[in-house]
Amino acid sequence: MEDFNGKKVLITGGSRGIGRATAQAFAARGAQIAINFRSDSIAAGETIESLEGEGHFAIKADISRANAVEKLTEAVIGEFGQIDVLVNNAGIYLPHPILDSDYQAWQQAWKDTLDLNLTGVANMCYWSAQHMKEQGGGHIINVSSRGAFRGEPDHPAYGASKAGLNAMSQSLAKALGPHKIYVSVVAPGFVATDMTQTILEGPDGEFIRNQSPLQRVATPEEVAHGIVFLAEQHSAFMTGAILDINGASYLRT
Ligand code: NAP
Repeated sequence: MEDFNGKKVLITGGSRGIGRATAQAFAARGAQIAINFRSDSIAAGETIESLEGEGHFAIKADISRANAVEKLTEAVIGEFGQIDVLVNNAGIYLPHPILDSDYQAWQQAWKDTLDLNLTGVANMCYWSAQHMKEQGGGHIINVSSRGAFRGEPDHPAYGASKAGLNAMSQSLAKALGPHKIYVSVVAPGFVATDMTQTILEGPDGEFIRNQSPLQRVATPEEVAHGIVFLAEQHSAFMTGAILDINGASYLRT
């Protein structure tokens, strides 16, 4: 296993769930971590406390705001001097079933979802890419979803945002490859985090678990494992790849 000693990793939405597990996985391999969070400074502090090694820190910023993304990136560069790995993990999953949402709620859900899950990631990629070009390369890993392929009947903006994220990541893999900046994607199915807790504990929980022949959903650590793998130098030729992590709950060829 490659170590990440001396590497600087920025993870958006690192206060909980997949982002926290990813921070822990990189720190266990020697990296220094900056996590971003939106509002929960206590959870963010708990993530930092849980990390092996030293020099980690948390920064509050709303990734759906373009100015905040620029400031966040500059703050991390100011502290670390470089960003070797960017993990775009922050995302929201807002219900807005088409036949049960009023028009205003429908529009708001689309705006909020796309502002964070797609445009926010695009802006994060923009600023990190400028620095990665100067420093001679880097890895960007974007956290997408099985929903991009399988459909999200009650969360259509989410499915669209993740499908857009996949397409954008592949475009950026082509644009940035000549600069040794590698862009790849993980596409998890259901994962046991705060985002899905209510659904998984509700009447659909068993049905969802049984979508996988393993009869369970993923742990955040299993998704983190895929993210760290894609950030290894040996994974450079995986640029443009979308790695399914869904326990064979949805197979595509
Ligand atoms: P989660 O437990 O709900 O945690 C979300 C994280 O994102 C938190 O750290 C939160 O910060 C942060 N965040 C939310 N809005 C933000 C914003 N505007 N700016 C900055 N940070 C923001 O989520 P998760 O389940 O770990 O999901 C992480 C990623 O995996 C998402 O992109 C999601 O779409 C994707 N995914 C999840 C699943 C699943 O089943 N859980 C499946 C497929 C894909 P605060 O704590 O401060 O609010």
